[in-house]
Amino acid sequence: MGESRHVFLVQGSAAEPYEVLIVYEGNEFNAQCSCPAGNNKQLCKHVIGIINYAFIGNNRVEIVSDNEGEAFDLHQTFSGTKSHEAMNDLDEAEKALKDKKAELKKLLAPFEKEVKDRKKQLQRTLLL
Ligand SMILES: [Zn+2]
Repeated sequence: MGESRHVFLVQGSAAEPYEVLIVYEGNEFNAQCSCPAGNNKQLCKHVIGIINYAFIGNNRVEIVSDNEGEAFDLHQTFSGTKSHEAMNDLDEAEKALKDKKAELKKLLAPFEKEVKDRKKQLQRTLLL
């Protein structure tokens, strides 16, 4: 099986749609986007959008080229690639961070209340 290339036109914030290029071969799955973030070698919402589209058919990404079906088919090729693994690792890390933030919020609540109460107390004793 050789290399496969797909180009999707994605409507972003600019008037002209961005070009998301997807190249895959075997276990390698790579993407590139023509948006400013993509040009800076940063992972952008258009690439993430295409992958999400492939996985959950979510259309938060607006594909304006007539090959939406190809995006949906990426699901099979993305599965099991290093990028898929990395994406799952990211999801896990994000969930763990979210959980810890919730714990931290609970932990801080009594201290925040204490500060608020003390402030009220000072206000009562100090102000006319
Ligand atoms: Zn982009």
